[in-house]
Amino acid sequence: MVIRTETCVAEEQSTTEPVVIPREAHRISRANISDNALKVLYRLKNAGFQAYMVGGGVRDLSLGREPKDFDVATDARPEEVRKLFRNCRLIGRRFRLAHVHFGPEVIEVATFRALHDPTDEDGGDSDGDRLYENGRIVRDNVYGTLTEDALRRDFTINALYYNIADFSVVDYAGGMDDLESGVLRLIGDARQRYREDPVRMLRAVRFAVKLGFRLHPDTAAPVREMAPLVAEMPPARLFDEVLKLFMAGMAQESFEVLRHYGLFDPLFPLTAAELAEPVAEERWVPFIARALESTDARVGADKPVTPAYLFAALLWPAVRACEQALLDRGEPPAYALQQAAAEVQREQQQRIALPKRFAIPMREIWILQPRFEKRSGKRVERLLAHPRFRAAYDFLELRAAVGEAPDESAAWWRDYQATPEAERVVAAQAPRSGRRRRPRRRRRGSGKDDGGGE
Ligand code: ATP
Ligand code: MG
Repeated sequence: MVIRTETCVAEEQSTTEPVVIPREAHRISRANISDNALKVLYRLKNAGFQAYMVGGGVRDLSLGREPKDFDVATDARPEEVRKLFRNCRLIGRRFRLAHVHFGPEVIEVATFRALHDPTDEDGGDSDGDRLYENGRIVRDNVYGTLTEDALRRDFTINALYYNIADFSVVDYAGGMDDLESGVLRLIGDARQRYREDPVRMLRAVRFAVKLGFRLHPDTAAPVREMAPLVAEMPPARLFDEVLKLFMAGMAQESFEVLRHYGLFDPLFPLTAAELAEPVAEERWVPFIARALESTDARVGADKPVTPAYLFAALLWPAVRACEQALLDRGEPPAYALQQAAAEVQREQQQRIALPKRFAIPMREIWILQPRFEKRSGKRVERLLAHPRFRAAYDFLELRAAVGEAPDESAAWWRDYQATPEAERVVAAQAPRSGRRRRPRRRRRGSGKDDGGGE
């Protein structure tokens, strides 16, 4: 073991010889670790187990950032962890974990996993608790030592361990150096690590964007070629990953980097096909960029964002193309949009499992769009009262901004909403479709149109 006293890494470090960085030589202070994570770490330690904070907690605190959550690694088995905490649940089959619940905060406790050896047919263990399929890890519950655990983690900066026993940080893979130089580097052979778990390619983009790091050339090199493997991942897992990519305040940049590496295609194949068309650079790329920009702005301002709106925007180019194809076949317009929405949703669902509670409002946002063109009488108030009005209207503005919906239509609805309620009745009686740019305001004193309607 190499003991390190300064912030520069000893030259002689090898992949299995860890560098131990003592408390005075790193930035992690218990004051910045959540009380609940500390509770878990101490209780494990007091019960005679090893206990480390690992992953995002160590990485983000070292960078002076606030971690999203705290992950713990230990040599205690999941069942042993459960015995120590009343508020503990064991989850996951592919990857068995203990979740210790403290109100809304969950501390994830993982037992050290052993090293992977995909060349070994049996997955290298006798009780068959690691399963490979085509080089992919589909189950990983072979327990091991701290050293083994470190080397099967994804990136060097995610393989730093903060030891609660002496407050040192243990670094097996040169993660501290990479943190200092802003490099995201996979541990081991990149191709093999992506083959085992293609989601690591998405994680690479996510961390690079979030931290402003660059991918190490070896980590970046195979991505374009291996990106299609992402399509083979379970749709539910891809949904989680896509939310992390697009709902964490860095969606616009994530979209660009995903496209750069060919990773957008396996996630949204129908949209990707439209983005490849010549017209896309003027219309659909700015359309998606704007949607993501406003999502980022909302996240930045701590306003709620919904996957329904996000997916509505990400899939709209495909819905429009499908709708057009149906119209070209002579289908009636009302049917074409409904049908296109259903088809796109069904196909996309095979890639990314969008839960119903988001898929339904997503479709409503789409289906409401033509109703913005029908602006007579009660239809207006009915649309306004629709639970999805706000999202659908924002969507209309988004479309108008790239010339995908009439400017006049967005302007009409903008003005209408700005019109005091008492004056709206007349506005809603404006001609059916866009001959008048602005809603007419009721002249003071003329009670003529009061109580009007359709
Ligand atoms: P954040 O929580 O901020 O998104 P994180 O690094 O903590 O980032 P998690 O998804 O919480 O990410 O995972 C915790 C740790 O588990 C990671 O830091 C990494 O060490 C390990 N890990 C997670 N997913 C993988 C994977 N697919 N392959 C290898 N190791 C992984
Ligand atoms: Mg984490």
